[in-house]
Amino acid sequence: MILGSCACESVQYKVDGELKNFSHCHCSICRKFHGAAFATWGGVGRANLSIDKSRELLKAYSFSKNTDSIFCSRCGSPVFADYKPDQKKYI
Ligand SMILES: [Zn+2]
Ligand SMILES: [Zn+2]
Repeated sequence: MILGSCACESVQYKVDGELKNFSHCHCSICRKFHGAAFATWGGVGRANLSIDKSRELLKAYSFSKNTDSIFCSRCGSPVFADYKPDQKKYI
């Protein structure tokens, strides 16, 4: 199990199981979102992710047809990216 939070710790989440499909992405969107030369990603199924605190603070920004950035509206931290090839939105 992995526990995490945004920077202000208002939003807290839990991942059951292991992250899969690790990658470093150097695309321009990832560089801008993370303010770095690349972003490191790990994948988890929707059923394995639960928002345990302050779900109502999460907002979504669609940066591509199939992907939303989910971030804390209080501190602005990106919490996860919602890849939705099936067009079902997480929030
Ligand atoms: Zn926050
Ligand atoms: Zn990228």
